[in-house]
Amino acid sequence: MDAKTSEPAGPLAFPVTELRGVGRERAEQLARLGIRTVEDLLLHRPRRYEDRRHFRPIGQLQVGEAALTRGRVIAMGLKTFRRRTRSLFEVVLEDETGRLYCRWWNSPFMERYFRVGDEVVVYGKVRALRPPAMDHPETEVIEGDAEAFIHFDRLTPVYPLTEGLPQRWLRALIWRTLAQYGEAVADPWPRSQLPAELQHLPTRAQALRWLHFPDTLEQAEWARQRLALDEFVPLQQALWERRRRFERVATALPCAGDRNRLIKPFLARLGFRLTEAQTRVLREIRRDLGGPWPMRRLLQGDVGSGKTVVAACAALMAIESGYSVALMAPTEILAEQHYSVFQQWFGPLGVPVWLRTGSRKIEPLPVEGSARRSASGAPQGEPGELAALYVGTHALLTGEVSLPRLGLVIIDEQHKFGVTQRETLVRKGRHPHLLVMTATPIPRTLALTLYGDLDVSLLDQLPPGRKPVRTCVRSSAQLPEVWARVRAELAAGRQAYVVCPRVEDTDAGVVRAVEKEFARVQQALRPYPVALLHGRLPARQKEQVMEAFRTGAISVLVSTPVIEVGVDVPRATVMVILSAETFGLAQLHQLRGRVGRGAQPGECILVSDARTPEARARLRVLEETRDGFAIAEADLQLRGPGELLGQQQSGMPRLRFGDLVRDHALIEAARRIVREGAPRSDQEPSATRNSVGS
Ligand code: ADP
Ligand code: MG
Repeated sequence: MDAKTSEPAGPLAFPVTELRGVGRERAEQLARLGIRTVEDLLLHRPRRYEDRRHFRPIGQLQVGEAALTRGRVIAMGLKTFRRRTRSLFEVVLEDETGRLYCRWWNSPFMERYFRVGDEVVVYGKVRALRPPAMDHPETEVIEGDAEAFIHFDRLTPVYPLTEGLPQRWLRALIWRTLAQYGEAVADPWPRSQLPAELQHLPTRAQALRWLHFPDTLEQAEWARQRLALDEFVPLQQALWERRRRFERVATALPCAGDRNRLIKPFLARLGFRLTEAQTRVLREIRRDLGGPWPMRRLLQGDVGSGKTVVAACAALMAIESGYSVALMAPTEILAEQHYSVFQQWFGPLGVPVWLRTGSRKIEPLPVEGSARRSASGAPQGEPGELAALYVGTHALLTGEVSLPRLGLVIIDEQHKFGVTQRETLVRKGRHPHLLVMTATPIPRTLALTLYGDLDVSLLDQLPPGRKPVRTCVRSSAQLPEVWARVRAELAAGRQAYVVCPRVEDTDAGVVRAVEKEFARVQQALRPYPVALLHGRLPARQKEQVMEAFRTGAISVLVSTPVIEVGVDVPRATVMVILSAETFGLAQLHQLRGRVGRGAQPGECILVSDARTPEARARLRVLEETRDGFAIAEADLQLRGPGELLGQQQSGMPRLRFGDLVRDHALIEAARRIVREGAPRSDQEPSATRNSVGS
């Protein structure tokens, strides 16, 4: 998705070379900043603003403070040492109150920029006071030319630059371009649609003027908000259109089931009762499956909240109605696990279960004829054909796989798939229903941006008796203690995971190698049987290892994060995560969700030698917080949306002004602007009800 408003037309689409003073060399430098057109230039966002109406006298500088000051160059010099491999360049500035020493190490080229007698603006952190000194400050020589007013006596924008491009030149270019073309900037949607609470936001043209040359920082922020809104509106537009395309389809396949013909015996044999949250969500799903449009629903729930059982019941509704179901999982291990679980669950009901992964293709075992027919009477003719469950990975997406009478598509752990893959699977049927399940809760702003076309169901309750996973952080010096703890669990007949970051040693020993680690763990936990699992193993071997772990033949699984999603072995109670600082918080939360799934409480030991306060603070979030939503928020704040969603997430826009951490109100506003599409009335649109975040 492109976050740009729309294709610029007219002069905004001109290449920058059309501008006076922009030759080939400058155009190349601008291109390095992503600036190719006039519009790109006008959207070049200042890094910060300097209040050049107020300079701090040199005599009033404070140590440790970032300050803006000015003075005249009274002396300068370049010293080189260590055979000219090192250098120190120093400039001494003076005003009426004192002298400031500005220093640059190993930047001899700085000498070119100054002459004695120059008046210079300096911004930097004050390193010392006796005498006042700054290291590597940002500087700009004041030139008393006709354009000085652009650079001084105002809130002055400071832009991201590239080598060879002077701050002053770029600022003047933007000033002139705004004067020349600022009026050509049109609002992409009528201002009358601006929600009441955002009436203070300017027009787009005004926003561009305020972005670059605001009178107050508040104006600069309003400009940012306006331009962010202009990024969010087309994103919401795309989501809305995707949804409307679906609703235009004449009718949805009737998949609401057949009075629990299969669900009732399924639940009876399950061994536990559904939680209230599960029951509520299933009611929502059933309503959709019997509704006029194909379901488009996102199921959000914390790790261990029991999404799989919900998926099973939803699948049985469709199968009761005579339609088949596809269940797509992100990894072979998870697909295999689903296959074996669903076979146990659905086999006795006579529902055939298929498996299709990159390396395995399993057709259902022949079932007694009578059982088959009772399971799923074919709807329209085709008496021999049975509604089935197709479990698989991406392999389900390939062209040669056909999924006859597809009524429902379920995608597990959606954050591993892109929108395109989701839609590819949906297109295998004639507008089947869609249920998307997330691995980890997603913060609201992200949910609105990525899944704004889906309705949301929330599993906000864990199965009863589930104790939170006790989590603590240990250093590798404490590993003997950690292994003793693990041995105690193993001695009590339980199982353990040891998670390492990667398959191979990459960063010279920093990231532990799972293969080396395996030998060490085996040593430390002798005589308990330990096995190794990672993504590079052949599929058959992976499945054998998982199976051995599931049955308890193996006590300890040393693994890469391939077990991150969905793996469910109730007897595993303790997890040790090595080099924990290399993982994202949401991922660690997901990982530790693998333990404490049975009656025994789970325990997670994060082993990390990270010393930085940030790294320690991050891991502490996990010690203190159990709530997946709060952890996802923290991860979003700390690492940004990319980390949270994983590499594969396509469809994540690059935003210049919008901020997925802070701009919740703007994203909501963009939704409303798109959905109303006409001047606002006083009424809330009903279309947003029951959708993401509403
Ligand atoms: P997730 O939401 O992380 O995918 P799962 O669906 O794998 O979670 O469920 C976690 C575990 O909880 C499974 O072992 C499942 O059988 C069990 N479970 C699910 N629902 C309930 C319930 N209502 N009562 C007790 N256990 C449940
Ligand atoms: Mg799951």
